[in-house]
Amino acid sequence: MDEKVLKGLTISCGILTLMFCILVFFLPDMRLKAQKLKENQESMKFSNVQEVIEKRDDLLGRIMLNMPEGISKDDVEVENLYMKRKIKVIFPKIIDDFFSQYKMAGSCNHIDEIKYYKSKEKSIIEFSVDKVYEVKKEFQADKIFIQFVDPHEIYDKVVVVDPGHGGDMPGAMKQGVTEKDINLDIVNELKAISEEKGNSKIKFYFTREDDTNPSLEERVSLANDSDADLFISVHNNASSDGKMSSLNGTQVMYDEKSIGKHGSKHFAEICLNNVCKSLGSYKRGLLKGDSIYIIRNSKVPVALIEVGFMTNSREIELLKSKNYQKKAADGIYNSVTQAFEEGY
Ligand SMILES: [Zn+2]
Repeated sequence: MDEKVLKGLTISCGILTLMFCILVFFLPDMRLKAQKLKENQESMKFSNVQEVIEKRDDLLGRIMLNMPEGISKDDVEVENLYMKRKIKVIFPKIIDDFFSQYKMAGSCNHIDEIKYYKSKEKSIIEFSVDKVYEVKKEFQADKIFIQFVDPHEIYDKVVVVDPGHGGDMPGAMKQGVTEKDINLDIVNELKAISEEKGNSKIKFYFTREDDTNPSLEERVSLANDSDADLFISVHNNASSDGKMSSLNGTQVMYDEKSIGKHGSKHFAEICLNNVCKSLGSYKRGLLKGDSIYIIRNSKVPVALIEVGFMTNSREIELLKSKNYQKKAADGIYNSVTQAFEEGY
């Protein structure tokens, strides 16, 4: 072949390859960026709540929203992200220019910020609130009234449960299992038991329900901000050098400042007795816990339960089994019941 033709062909091939690469690698990214930019422009944030909520003293403590056209009350979703102190009201439809079309009115001083954004064919009003609240909603004709209320207005008792560690903080690790997973498994069993028992007077809040790692401050403030009646943190133990050993059994840590009748120490004792009874585990006893951040900073009766030892070959096998995890959860649930019977 002519050398010139060959050269031309090579250059053309090069250009084509380059264009192909741009198409495959850069275009989707550019499109994504453009979309993100559009979404950002469409998301609005208001720190001055009165910009979007017309103040109406006759709606004390309530917020009135006009229902967007074509949406029925069954379509409106309310999501309570209590760990983040955010409450979302979700409409299943993209609504442009929401606040100029649908005014809100009312009077509520629990809101720090309001955000409005659209995501996946949904329009979301997100309220950042100053504490842990439950949401009461009520529909009248084409209006929805929402109210953020103290959990104790709805429930007799509030229990905060904290599965220790999570995310990139695995806690103890032995035989291919991590403490964070066992802690969460036990708490998930507890959640199932509480749902099964269906006691609508007790509300359980969880500091995490998946493999995430809320900060210690976030964990303890869930208990403090919800004025919880009880705060339980679930952990598992390990020998101090992390090596397998004969150490075994259940141990519960308590808040040294809280040793009265309905204090942390007695609650820890209730937990120790019930968990050991349910598991048949060795009762190692109670331990002062003020070196632990979440115990030291808890304003409510707290117990940190070290269910068993991951560094004990017999106990780690038990801790891995669903049956033992369920028994641990039974013991914790019974502790809660006993504490409330005793007037906590
Ligand atoms: Zn731990």
